[in-house]
Amino acid sequence: MQETLLQRATDICKQKRIRFTAIRQRVFQLMVEQDGAVSAYELLEQLQQHDANAKPPTIYRALDFLLEHHFIHRIESLNAYLMCAHFGCEHPMQLLICDKCKKVIELSDPVIDAAFSQQAKQAHFQITNKVLEAHGICYNCQ
Ligand SMILES: [Zn+2]
Ligand SMILES: [Zn+2]
Repeated sequence: MQETLLQRATDICKQKRIRFTAIRQRVFQLMVEQDGAVSAYELLEQLQQHDANAKPPTIYRALDFLLEHHFIHRIESLNAYLMCAHFGCEHPMQLLICDKCKKVIELSDPVIDAAFSQQAKQAHFQITNKVLEAHGICYNCQ
């Protein structure tokens, strides 16, 4: 399963002719293994178990790469990261974040997205960064 995701990511990178270096693959794999939201600091600690020399810039550069190519998402309200449920393409996003277990449900409803953008347009507002995140308690934690 995880092997397959890494393989899929490798194929996407080949197709787009972008370099999927060993460290990028390693951080991608770590993201796949997370159960919900994870902070850069937590990822660094995990990375250091394999590579004691890993430094914050290492992890941030890899995360920037994964963000740029739509493999992962940034959760603004948690200052954390999330594996994309259907990575490899850009898509509208709304997040439901459980405050108890940090599980994140990723929604990608184009109707919500379009309605939000439409309202902004009516207010003559130019959106440069759009974040739709809701906090609460997930089904399992209720
Ligand atoms: Zn996604
Ligand atoms: Zn929960």
